[in-house]
Amino acid sequence: MTEPAIHVRGLRKRYGDVEAVAGIDLDVARGEVFALLGPNGAGKTTTVEVLEGYRERSAGEVRVLGHDPARGERAYRERIGIVLQSTGVEPYLTVEETVAMFGGYYPRPRPVAEVLEVVGLVEQRRTRVRRLSGGQQRRLDVAVGLAGDPELLFLDEPTTGFDPGARRQAWELVRRLRALGKTVLLTTHYMDEAQQLADHVAIIARGRLVVVGTPEALIAANPETAITFVLPAGVMPPFELGAAHDGGGAWRIASVEPARALHALTAWALAQGLPLDALDVCRPSLEDVYLQLTGAGCDEGASAASLGVEDAHG
Ligand code: ATP
Repeated sequence: MTEPAIHVRGLRKRYGDVEAVAGIDLDVARGEVFALLGPNGAGKTTTVEVLEGYRERSAGEVRVLGHDPARGERAYRERIGIVLQSTGVEPYLTVEETVAMFGGYYPRPRPVAEVLEVVGLVEQRRTRVRRLSGGQQRRLDVAVGLAGDPELLFLDEPTTGFDPGARRQAWELVRRLRALGKTVLLTTHYMDEAQQLADHVAIIARGRLVVVGTPEALIAANPETAITFVLPAGVMPPFELGAAHDGGGAWRIASVEPARALHALTAWALAQGLPLDALDVCRPSLEDVYLQLTGAGCDEGASAASLGVEDAHG
């Protein structure tokens, strides 16, 4: 099937005077992990709620798995799974009872044992919900979203509040979902999460799509590598190295030819007998791109174009 899982054109949503979503186009292919990023109030939740069928749109065309979510068809709801930031599950039920109960609402639930295997809660299957750790409860939330064996899963900030170990486990879980052929639409505030997991990333700011592309393409469009180092007090690097203060007591060279810049820097430092303390070479991350595109004074379309990446309408 070549029809995308999600197809959105010109989506708008107004709350009174606030235009929360101001004309968004999106295409999410079947079987991919797609991340929606953006600052607080950008319109991510509103967009996702329209796709889920929980919020009416003001204008635009929306097809999800071939359905118009606004019609609220049962056949549509049976094909999607939703993992909200906190799910109201009964604290006195066990893990397996909870998953079985939610699966019971669907015509073709995934077997409970399989769901628990996917989310890594097999050992806790007889544990009561109220005894689970925070990370385990979040995995149970995902299990509830998977109980009906949906084709498409909406994951709202799946790792907010997790410790680093639990985040890695959650990432593994999302990868497992992709391996099962599920389409996953996730919202996140963590750039490394999007970089690790997403096939495509869309950055939204002020209700508009700023840019969409693979994490690699967005990063490649920002080709400067940062070289940072610390010099003894009072020592200035020569002008031709193009170093500038980074604001935190270190020097910073931004270069599209890091090997050449590093060579020039180390040759100079060795000739002068100077240490290059805290020398660091850092490739740009998705976070750098994100900050550049959503930063203060950033004009959406123009910034995307200036980075040379596929912009929202490209
Ligand atoms: P966050 O990252 O903080 O969750 P978000 O990108 O999900 O933000 P939305 O929750 O979609 O953003 O909000 C977009 C805009 O719409 C904000 O200005 C918000 O205040 C406004 N808004 C959201 N829900 C409502 C509502 N029910 N009534 C009125 N305004 C709303």
